[in-house]
Amino acid sequence: MTQKPKKRKEVEAVDVLDHRHCEICGRVVPPNEKYCSPKCEEKAVKERKSMERFRKIWIAILVAFTIFMIVQILLRLPG
Ligand SMILES: [Zn+2]
Repeated sequence: MTQKPKKRKEVEAVDVLDHRHCEICGRVVPPNEKYCSPKCEEKAVKERKSMERFRKIWIAILVAFTIFMIVQILLRLPG
């Protein structure tokens, strides 16, 4: 059995782990940090909360629409 050298993959993994970008402003941050500053972290939390609210509203609309469609189909059934 022959094994291919994994050097290329290792280099890529190291490159990814070496640094990451702030999720808000895109600045380079250490691999153990998600944001470059508490300000960006605060912004991220706020954004996530508004995203969650937006998603909940969308789900509510979809559920309401589905129920409306089912009611329409049921009303159109003969008999
Ligand atoms: Zn930032």
